Amino acid sequence: MKIICIGRNYADHAKELGNEIPENPVIFMKPDTAILKKGSDFYIPEFSDDVHYELEVVLKISKGGKYIQEENADKHYDEIGLGIDFTARDLQTQLKAKGLPWELSKAFDGSAVISEFYKKQDFDMKNLNFSLIKNKEKVQDGNTSLMLFSPEKIIAFVSQYFTLKVGDFIFTGTPKGVGKVAEKDILEAFLEDKKVFDLRIQ
Ligand code: MG
Repeated sequence: MKIICIGRNYADHAKELGNEIPENPVIFMKPDTAILKKGSDFYIPEFSDDVHYELEVVLKISKGGKYIQEENADKHYDEIGLGIDFTARDLQTQLKAKGLPWELSKAFDGSAVISEFYKKQDFDMKNLNFSLIKNKEKVQDGNTSLMLFSPEKIIAFVSQYFTLKVGDFIFTGTPKGVGKVAEKDILEAFLEDKKVFDLRIQ
């Protein structure tokens, strides 16, 4: 199982970090050891003083393939959930400045929070609302209509490079509103009106 992540898939988020709007999806990966065990708290790693939450819609691949065509990509995932792509922003900024890969800042243990999964057909994937509440205050409010690259485009793009297998996850990028977490914060994630997880920061 692998976790493929898309960066800069919402224009407003790319802008808030001072990044250009990409011509192609920006891709990175997390190893399976990045997945935070369900029910566990998230512990801020000692190598960072600026860990950010990034709430994202996550696709679960239900049918593998390579060179998947965009018009068929819809058949390759049948469940969706939400996840947090925890990012050590201070470390990422240093790596970016040196032109180095992002993995140390993005792929560390516990950096991938993944909710339960829900049938895709119960939602409108082109107009799906999702939001993150931090300490009772809404900090991120996303809608999939604002994605630069749709789930189908992402699947078609990444499958040119990586064979997709059943059970792989794709994090589809975060909307604007990312920010730092601190000890004792409580994060709550909502898919439409449904709370899909809550998480304590330590
Ligand atoms: Mg992200």
